Amino acid sequence: MATSTRRGSRTPTPLAYRSYLPRCPSCRRGPPTERAVPVTNPTPSAPTFTVEDPATLEVIETVPDNGIEEAAAAVDRADAAFTGWSRTSPRHRSDVLRRAFELMLRDRDELAALIARENGKSLADSAAEVVYAAEFFRWFSEEAVRPGGDYGQAPAGGSRTLVSHRPVGVAALVTPWNFPAAMATRKIAPALAAGCTVVLKPAAETPLTALAVARLLIEAGVPDGVVEVVTTTDAPAVVTTWLLDPRVRKVSFTGSTGVGRALLHQAADRVLNASMELGGNAPVVITADADIEAAVAGTMVAKFRNGGQACTAANRIYVHDDVADEFIARFGAEVEKLAVGPAVDGGTIGPLITSAALERITRSVDQAVAEGARISHRAETPDAAGYFYAPTVLTDVNPDAAILRDEIFGPVAPVVLWHDEDELLRQVNDTDYGLAAYVFSGDVAQAMRLGERIEAGMVGINRGIVSDPSAPFGGMKQSGLGREGAREGLREFQETQYLTVDWT
Ligand code: NAD
Repeated sequence: MATSTRRGSRTPTPLAYRSYLPRCPSCRRGPPTERAVPVTNPTPSAPTFTVEDPATLEVIETVPDNGIEEAAAAVDRADAAFTGWSRTSPRHRSDVLRRAFELMLRDRDELAALIARENGKSLADSAAEVVYAAEFFRWFSEEAVRPGGDYGQAPAGGSRTLVSHRPVGVAALVTPWNFPAAMATRKIAPALAAGCTVVLKPAAETPLTALAVARLLIEAGVPDGVVEVVTTTDAPAVVTTWLLDPRVRKVSFTGSTGVGRALLHQAADRVLNASMELGGNAPVVITADADIEAAVAGTMVAKFRNGGQACTAANRIYVHDDVADEFIARFGAEVEKLAVGPAVDGGTIGPLITSAALERITRSVDQAVAEGARISHRAETPDAAGYFYAPTVLTDVNPDAAILRDEIFGPVAPVVLWHDEDELLRQVNDTDYGLAAYVFSGDVAQAMRLGERIEAGMVGINRGIVSDPSAPFGGMKQSGLGREGAREGLREFQETQYLTVDWT
């Protein structure tokens, strides 16, 4: 959690973040890019804010609290760098991204320790995130040299058409705290591959990982101005500055649907190219002939990866009533075994990100119970200062309960029984969200049929994870616009242009 320490009279701190190096107490070899970039703290008079470990409530670091001037200065630098970077060869950009992939893997343990510290997730989840994040650099290093294009004869003859894809320009990137490395690389990698330069605003809760990634990119050979990171507690000021700046040609946002909708309103004024990765309300469907052991294992991953703080997290578990008793007993037993606690103490489920998140989840479980739900299983929570919430299974959940409509974003698993497939699909699709869904079934045809009828951008069949850099990540309905990863991810940072040539 971030706490602003000083605002008021401000001394602009352009470039401060570039040379500012967070010390990472849990890193064995010091912070990831210590070798590459000298340490310079921000000027003493500059406003700063603190970053807190949500597992211990200790202050980890102090970073610059940038405002409108620094946001505009970052665009100055990104704009100045655009012509040079966009004219580099695709092979050059590919090589730089490949080096960034290798550097991230080199520093995997240090980066994982940093993520665990500022986000609170377990060391295993943090290490998995570093690898997932690095894979975007590798994937887009390979896509960078395949820019695509087309050549054709006009139907009436007489002219030829050449279609090509060019970088959209300076891109504004806004990322959330729940995957502080991967949500940044999933945007930076395709943007750089396309030839764009970027200004990035990480979440105030987790700015240190984004700074570490930016420094790795410098070490990988990214020139000045190509990747600008602006840390701040005043997100609306910084992001509005960017959305109003005519030199910014693209906004790519990952976060809640509410904020995404507000940014789309702002973007509309400039008809700004926008990609939105927003909230989710993922259903898990377990059919009567599912392999229950596999369904339990898959649902544990879908629900508890990142402590349930994932946009793809299972939010509602629909179990066929023939297998409900067995599933709930086995799933509940696994939930009770979860080790909740700080990552450094070996916890596999970390804290929620803020006290506000803890209060929100406590309220929503209390409300579900008041509406008739029953707490069937619960893990132990440690006697620790952090924002821990015990992983909880809710049964007898009313199909209209608020907890099934809202994004839980925490370790709570509401279970609903189903019998009729059409009624199941009505309930599953009765949501404004459409990001991820999961189906566990022993009948491939039924699983595919259900998958095709569920209104979600991504459906995991007999697996509890859908994220993959080579696949188009994104949602239907109010879960977003556009896709990240895959070939589609590159297109989000490109404009299509055609040249028509007279052939007579
Ligand atoms: P959030 O919307 O509160 O914040 C996301 C980012 O937007 C942060 O950097 C924040 O500082 C910034 N922001 C907040 N208010 C703003 C404003 N008024 N103007 C400009 N910027 C603003 O979301 P969060 O709490 O950080 O993340 C959790 C949400 O993100 C969940 O809803 C989750 O589902 C979603 N998410 C979606 C994906 C996806 O790929 N679809 C991935 C991860 C998280």
